[in-house]
Amino acid sequence: MKSAQIREAFLNYFAEQGHTRVPSSSLVPGNDPTLLFTNAGMVQFKDTFLGQESRPYARAASSQRCVRAGGKHNDLENVGYTARHHTFFEMLGNFSFGDYFKREAIRFAWEFLTKELKLPEERLWVTVHISDDEAADIWLKEVGVSADRFSRLDEDNFWQMGDTGPCGPSSEIFYDHGADVPGGPPGSENDDLDRYIEIWNLVFMQFERSADGELHPLPKPSVDTGMGLERIAAVMQGVHSNYEIDLFQALLNAAGEVVGCSNTEEKSLRVIADHIRSCSFLIADGVMPSNEGRGFVLRRIIRRAVRHGHKLGHKDIFFYKLVAALVAEMGEAYPELKEKQSLIEKALRKEEEQFAKTLDKGLALLDEALESLDGSEVPGALVFTLHDTYGFPTDLTQDIARERGLTLDMDGYEKAMNAQRERARAAGKFKQDYTDSLDLDGATEFLGYDRVSAEGKVV
Ligand code: ATP
Ligand code: MG
Ligand code: MG
Ligand code: MG
Repeated sequence: MKSAQIREAFLNYFAEQGHTRVPSSSLVPGNDPTLLFTNAGMVQFKDTFLGQESRPYARAASSQRCVRAGGKHNDLENVGYTARHHTFFEMLGNFSFGDYFKREAIRFAWEFLTKELKLPEERLWVTVHISDDEAADIWLKEVGVSADRFSRLDEDNFWQMGDTGPCGPSSEIFYDHGADVPGGPPGSENDDLDRYIEIWNLVFMQFERSADGELHPLPKPSVDTGMGLERIAAVMQGVHSNYEIDLFQALLNAAGEVVGCSNTEEKSLRVIADHIRSCSFLIADGVMPSNEGRGFVLRRIIRRAVRHGHKLGHKDIFFYKLVAALVAEMGEAYPELKEKQSLIEKALRKEEEQFAKTLDKGLALLDEALESLDGSEVPGALVFTLHDTYGFPTDLTQDIARERGLTLDMDGYEKAMNAQRERARAAGKFKQDYTDSLDLDGATEFLGYDRVSAEGKVV
């Protein structure tokens, strides 16, 4: 089954169960200035869940474009290292706004997986929250899931929107990719490896947490679910890694052609194929590379992609050339991507040209320093110079360091940054500290970046 067919099968199945099909919303959340990017299907329904917005339906289903590259959900560091994480992905979801609850949500999910997609039950593992007897009973007694593939977990199975507000237990469904892949079942020591991959998360919004931490039952409990399209596509296509699914083949081939690398299992190629999706969709949704906020996250992703091209030995501007392949692959499902193609290409090209001016020199400086490195820590002063003079965001230097088994001296980096700030202040050049204007930063869900320099650069 192709990814596009799975998407349709999902939306059709839930339409048959009385759900209204709702289009994906933008990656820039329209209803929440505190959230960096749309990172789940429920984001566009947040006010409906909170009872602050009413909709003409009580059941909805969507395929939501999501980015997890900053904030509470940041999978940037996982890309290239796990089989299951992307910066950009599509989340299939069904939602109940005070309508059905656990029993139906579980039944729908199980029926879709085992009847519609015909997945073998023995491959599916289920978890619920330790406190959730109700969900446990439904799974074990009504659905008849084997106790051997069922467990009760704590933090992993409790969801909350923030420190206060709606929250509740969740239930997750995992797929066992087989004994030849390393990793243990959910809740075991090695569950983070990629044998048992979480495919679907069902959240039962059941309580409201007040400021004193107390849980109060909601009068009308709701359901929010999310299943990664790429993960379920990997399962359906009999491959282990998300990067082996149909959606990625054309992108990996295009990337390989442009940078001159024919091995589609090459990590850097996968990073590039992942990043072209997040970068293009972010630009299509109105984000432009910049030194702060969302634009800075975009800039960081672009620069990482460019550096990976470099690592594969490709020195010319290349990243923007992949937009055409992406549009060919996803333009039908997302017409806005097609409409904005030339804008995306221009923005990526400009950013890459700018970075190309300093990338080579910065890498040479880093290489030279690492040759005579004493220990396993990249000195903070060097991390700072790379950032300040060569435009290397710290996560980019970190990415290079990790490949070589090194870490960064972030305290030293901080010191160098402060020293520079002082010098600028003394010289009267200090203009504005942007920290205040970035209250995005302090919000519960958005801890997108750590530091903001005196120049307003987010670092
Ligand atoms: P994981 O534990 O594997 O990081 P998660 O628990 O963070 O996943 P949820 O927040 O529960 O993920 O999101 C719902 C679903 O979205 C997941 O079950 C998964 O199928 C999918 N998903 C989450 N993060 C990613 C990602 N970075 N790339 C692709 N799919 C993802
Ligand atoms: Mg995660
Ligand atoms: Mg998880
Ligand atoms: Mg989850």
